[in-house]
Amino acid sequence: MILAQLTRRRAHDSTLTKSRYNVLLVLHKFHYYPKLTASGQYPTFAQRQRLYHQDANYMMPLSTQETSSTQPASAGPIQNGSTSSLSDLAKTNLIFQSGSHQQTYTLETKTTSIHRLTDLPDADAQLFKPASNPPPGAQIFALTTEATIFHPQGGGQPSDIGTLSTLPEYGSNQEGQKFFEVAMARTSATNIGTVLHFGYFIDESIAQPGPSSLPVIQVVDSDKRHLYSRLHTAGHVLGTATRSLLEDKIEDFDELKASHFPDAASCEFKGSIDGKYKSEIQTAVDQLVDKDAEVRIGWWRKEDFRNRGLERLLPSDEVWTQIATQVDESGDEVEGSTGPDDEVTRIRVVEIVGFEVYPCGGTHVPSTKGCGKVSVKKISRSKGTSRVSYLVD
Ligand SMILES: [Zn+2]
Repeated sequence: MILAQLTRRRAHDSTLTKSRYNVLLVLHKFHYYPKLTASGQYPTFAQRQRLYHQDANYMMPLSTQETSSTQPASAGPIQNGSTSSLSDLAKTNLIFQSGSHQQTYTLETKTTSIHRLTDLPDADAQLFKPASNPPPGAQIFALTTEATIFHPQGGGQPSDIGTLSTLPEYGSNQEGQKFFEVAMARTSATNIGTVLHFGYFIDESIAQPGPSSLPVIQVVDSDKRHLYSRLHTAGHVLGTATRSLLEDKIEDFDELKASHFPDAASCEFKGSIDGKYKSEIQTAVDQLVDKDAEVRIGWWRKEDFRNRGLERLLPSDEVWTQIATQVDESGDEVEGSTGPDDEVTRIRVVEIVGFEVYPCGGTHVPSTKGCGKVSVKKISRSKGTSRVSYLVD
């Protein structure tokens, strides 16, 4: 499909959401641009770069954030013990949150800044606890990018790990050149909404702290991501199954926080759940997995929660203001919306269709069967709350 056709289709086909359009554009870039020259030659790397930048629609974000290539310098000259602010950096476009990108493991984007770990504000530097072990003595950096496919640690879900590569140059392999290992991704503590990709350089010639605008390909470790998505979705399944079973049997029952780390996955509930319920919870979990219910990502207004009788899931007004954005129900940006925040802003939810809804920013498998076998391990109780731990095979 050539770009003009794709653009025309975007204009007339309402089912071609912006996020799906972006995916097609990425495919188009990789598979079409290399065939562009009239003489039948592959374009040079510089020609590809020009084509990439000429396409104004390329990677239009899901949010309305400006790209940060024109942002003022945030790192500046490096000084020992510097606590340079990250506040000038634009929010990162969280591609992994799009319903159509739950199983997307690569992304073409651009760097926006490079910081040494030691130059970050303390609150950001302290976030780094590597999910993979850097080589001894490796100097740790934090890279920011316009968009990311890396799920940062949060909401009970571990960080993705992976690599950053330069764009493929003619004559090189299809994956470009790996130049950075991402050992952990976290959301900045000093600039909420900007994702820090912590790790170390394989190619140290690129390790130039300061503002940066390098086209890169992000690749996440797909095996780990898939495991984390299964564990995370299994947490929703366990919560749903336990609620359906015990909501009417246990006083003050409610779902609390959850953790989806391998070997430490558990859901916490308000109320005391007796150990005798373990086999019944297991049966309810198995039934919900077997039903293969769709796990659907959506974006809801406050009104949508009220219409479904799910006010209990609404975050506080303060939290709503922090996390709600002006997008449509698919998470695609909307332009020109005005009105009270409550009416035009939405938060991301995951719906186990026909069963339960959770406000959630994590990554999921497409249906409950994708969790595989979920085994309830143990029920423990403490101070009026109960913890149900589980494993996936
Ligand atoms: Zn979730």
